[in-house]
Amino acid sequence: MHFAFTDEEEMIRAAAERIAAERLAPLAARLDRGEGRDELLANLKLLADNGFMALNVSPDHGGAGAGTVAFALAIEALGYACAATTVGVSVTNMVGEVIQSVGSEEQKRRHLPKLADGTYPAGAFCLTESGAGSDPAGMRTRARRDGDGYVLDGSKIYISSAEYAGVFVVWAVTDPDRPKGKGISCFLVEAGTPGLVIGKAEEKMGQHGSSTNTVIFDDCRVPASALMGRENDGFRIAVGELAGGRIGVAALSLGIARAAMDVAKAHARDRQQFGQPIAEFQGVQWMIADRETDLEAARLLILSAAAKKDRGEPFAKEASMAKLFASEAAHRCTDTAIQLLGGAGYIRDYPVERLARDARITRIYEGTSEIQRVIIARETLRNL
Ligand SMILES: Cc1cc2nc3c(=O)[nH]c(=O)nc-3n(C[C@H](O)[C@H](O)[C@H](O)COP(=O)(O)OP(=O)(O)OC[C@H]3O[C@@H](n4cnc5c(N)ncnc54)[C@H](O)[C@@H]3O)c2cc1C
Repeated sequence: MHFAFTDEEEMIRAAAERIAAERLAPLAARLDRGEGRDELLANLKLLADNGFMALNVSPDHGGAGAGTVAFALAIEALGYACAATTVGVSVTNMVGEVIQSVGSEEQKRRHLPKLADGTYPAGAFCLTESGAGSDPAGMRTRARRDGDGYVLDGSKIYISSAEYAGVFVVWAVTDPDRPKGKGISCFLVEAGTPGLVIGKAEEKMGQHGSSTNTVIFDDCRVPASALMGRENDGFRIAVGELAGGRIGVAALSLGIARAAMDVAKAHARDRQQFGQPIAEFQGVQWMIADRETDLEAARLLILSAAAKKDRGEPFAKEASMAKLFASEAAHRCTDTAIQLLGGAGYIRDYPVERLARDARITRIYEGTSEIQRVIIARETLRNL
């Protein structure tokens, strides 16, 4: 398979690399220490001003209309510099795509330009609940029809960017009597809606700059026009959109992995032991060779999934393969990078321990590695 990027894709990648180097990279260590929220928000606005918050949304609604390959290149470039910033960019793009694919014309007109231009600092994707993670169809949050609207009650956990999101895509059970997964609907809830409460902020292992919160719906009334798509058709929507989101997590993983290995390779060339650079030891060279192979394989799987999505072909299996492989490759690359730096790899003055912590969650969110294997196996066996 040969990938030749269009001029526009190359331009988007170059612009992402420039903003990543100038604005995201200098902030990454501070965000990791729990500082720099204002700068994070300023960077999200800058990314919106440059088209990165709605890369795959049509220009008719303020988006860049750049496609999934461009999205993957951009997320990799941004993730190389700062995973905590980039996860919010990836999720916001996913929120824009949900609204674009199932929203009404009115919903698109009302929300997409605000996501695209940064009026909304981010979008939030509210699926996971305390009792429903890998199995989101088991959710308990209810949306009861009430007069000319719905009333939402329940809570979601681990919601990225909830503290500064302008709009929340929320899944809730509208018909509990239907079979599991068949009575769920999808709603758009604006920040500030009475009854939408941003709860506890989680303290995490990594990606500290990205807020992760409980989101509570306490008698939260939304108009009937907040329903996206058809009533009780929401779970199908979630499944479809998560596949696209997985290309984003895969690209983010690749960015983190590449950043770690770039530090490690430079260190291996510079660090002298036994009178020579450690890169001249075959034991070190084999570690570098294995991780270079990981990076290239991850890149090809991501581009293959992205290209399929852009061509309008089924891509769920490929997106899961890309997410599974790239996130596990990021784990191997960041771990190898720590090993190649020796003691320095474990010390906070060097970036690789942060990269290892940032990488860890990529094997969990938007479907764990085990769930990706479930999807890949199901799709493979279905086609026998
Ligand atoms: C930092 C962070 C950000 C997040 N952001 C969001 C967000 O913005 N929006 C959102 O909706 N969610 C978000 N999540 C939630 C995330 O998607 C879930 O944590 C994830 O899907 C796993 O669900 P769980 O934590 O309930 O784990 P569980 O489902 O309880 O899984 C526990 C273990 O059991 C395994 N397991 C479960 N089922 C199977 C099976 N069928 N076969 C084999 N193994 C299985 C899992 O792989 C895992 O190893 C976020 C989570 C974190 C930590």
